[in-house]
Amino acid sequence: MKNALTALALSCAALSANAQTFETCVAGLRQAAGAQGVSAQTLDLVFKGLEPDETVLKAFDFQPEFRTPIWDYLAGLVDDERVADGQAKLKEWSKTLAEAEQKYGVDRYTIVAVWGVESNFGRIQGTRALVRSLVTLVCANKRQAFFKGELWATLKIAQSGDIPLQNLVGSWAGAFGQTQFMPTTYQRIAVDVDGDGKRDIVNSVPDALGSTANYLKQAGWVSGANWGYEVQLPKGYAGPSGRTTRQPLAQFTKLGIKPIKSDQTVPSETTQAALLLPAGPSGPAFMVFRNFDAMYSYNAAESYALSIAHLADRLRGGARFSTPWPTDDPGTSRAERREVQQRLAARGYDIGEIDGMIGTKSRLAISEFQTSIGVKPDGRAGQRVLQALRAAKPK
Ligand code: CA
Repeated sequence: MKNALTALALSCAALSANAQTFETCVAGLRQAAGAQGVSAQTLDLVFKGLEPDETVLKAFDFQPEFRTPIWDYLAGLVDDERVADGQAKLKEWSKTLAEAEQKYGVDRYTIVAVWGVESNFGRIQGTRALVRSLVTLVCANKRQAFFKGELWATLKIAQSGDIPLQNLVGSWAGAFGQTQFMPTTYQRIAVDVDGDGKRDIVNSVPDALGSTANYLKQAGWVSGANWGYEVQLPKGYAGPSGRTTRQPLAQFTKLGIKPIKSDQTVPSETTQAALLLPAGPSGPAFMVFRNFDAMYSYNAAESYALSIAHLADRLRGGARFSTPWPTDDPGTSRAERREVQQRLAARGYDIGEIDGMIGTKSRLAISEFQTSIGVKPDGRAGQRVLQALRAAKPK
């Protein structure tokens, strides 16, 4: 306890020393922003009483103790609930989506899939004030050049009046709006679709959908082409794989790789292709093309791109992957994660809000429950934990 108090006192001292530096840093930024043409009025508005947000630095430094397996990642992002929500959105916004297809050449299913994965169709856009997060990161010397560029862009958006300042909130790293664009991406890509003269990806669904389509187009989207499809590997396949190992499709065909579905539409044999094995050769395998790379560029992670690709396929009426993930403890949907949380809460565990998002509290509770039933604790909300909770005697 004494040690903890000493540590606390030390960290308070460090904080007040930092506060001094923070003020100096903000003053410097303010001056530099002014020199870039940001008006004094805007600067007064955004910098007044600004304090660092320590939670942003924690998020920056956070090293996930629990690496998310791809089957967990996909099970939460592409679940029946998101498919149903997406289908409702396809109906609701059909006119806007038809216009976006026409103008940018990107199909409506992919646009809606990005919207669903990025912000759950606009419902989860993040709550942190962009200026505060970015100033905190810059002044703490975290990727300073990068975040400074994002800060200047944010200030210019605030000054332009396209998006009200109080709506410039988002993730700790500065992604915001229904499309979760970084501010510089917004400047480069966002479009005004509803015709009010403002590019508002926070409050306007047409602007957000059009901006998403424009992003994919700028990322090299090939109109009318497929992202890829699930394939069958020959037994013991040890040939080339990896998204960046591209060669003509014919080379893969020669090695005996073929689509899982016999009626699959296949591009020409000269198309540049890559073989994606997200969980190694014993899991689902995918032949991917140029449009997969466009999805990848939205958020540089292959698991992310696969979630967009798969959700788009599901929205088109496509099936789940044929090959099971190489695990005996598959992932859970958001509805199942809520059930895990509800059942833990009913047993007296503090899991915070029942929201289907497995955060620190939920993981801790799962670990404790696993220990209580003699299972090695890993804090994962997989099918096994769900089944064990369903089977456990009520408390
Ligand atoms: Ca607009």
